[in-house]
Amino acid sequence: MKWLGRRESGNVEDRRGMSGGKLAAGGGAIGIIILLINMFMGGESGELLNGLQDQLQQGTQTESVPLSAEDEKMGKFVSVVLADTEDVWTKIFAENGMTYQQPKLVLFREGVQTACGNASAASGPFYCPTDQKVYMDLQFFEELKNRFGAEGGDFAIAYVIAHEIGHHVQTLLGTSGKVREAQSDMNESDANKLSVALELQADFYAGLWTHHNEKLNQILEQGDIEEALSAANAVGDDAIQSRTQGHVNQDSFTHGTSEQRMYWFNKGFKTGDIKQGDTFKEID
Ligand SMILES: [Zn+2]
Repeated sequence: MKWLGRRESGNVEDRRGMSGGKLAAGGGAIGIIILLINMFMGGESGELLNGLQDQLQQGTQTESVPLSAEDEKMGKFVSVVLADTEDVWTKIFAENGMTYQQPKLVLFREGVQTACGNASAASGPFYCPTDQKVYMDLQFFEELKNRFGAEGGDFAIAYVIAHEIGHHVQTLLGTSGKVREAQSDMNESDANKLSVALELQADFYAGLWTHHNEKLNQILEQGDIEEALSAANAVGDDAIQSRTQGHVNQDSFTHGTSEQRMYWFNKGFKTGDIKQGDTFKEID
């Protein structure tokens, strides 16, 4: 994907430099000690205070994790992809008489607190409808390559971001809310079928975004679509189940098979027509 020098979104919250919450707790405790010393020692606590403040600063340095040049580069890439999703969805919403509300994207490492609960790197990238933020630990893409056999590449990441943004679009359009309501009085296997339709529609939206982004920004390079399809293939329920548990149980599928995921991404990409994305009608 051509991305160097292109517009970056202002909606990325980079929390990769923080180490999950320990920092605030440490600072808080030392802060209280300083306050107590001030109370008990009056003006004569200067020297001791400086020592503690040094400690506090050292503590800060060891707790925060510096970003490498590669981390910085990945952060910029993610910001450009997010900006591209803003361009495309703002246009599509406007064409349909609606206003697109831009979501935030949080980059984190190891663990993160969200309005949908705590998440770890193992959760994989996800969208939280309550705070309307996408959460991503970029380590996931190493896993996708090493454990799940995707070919990798920058457009695999673009596809996953576009899929999560697809869930944001479903939230804005009210689709996700309707699905959750319908699922509340269903048996598990029927509820799972609706989850699959929701996921496949997010894949369709990722393809749709690719189609329109190409028209607007001409960013595709040789092999990009294959990278997206390879990632979609790797995250199919059948592929993941056969790798992690050695067998496949169709009733427990929540995201769709590799074949379905590639089919719907491709359909969005080829047609560019949002009306073709009724995954709820097309799967039984
Ligand atoms: Zn999803």
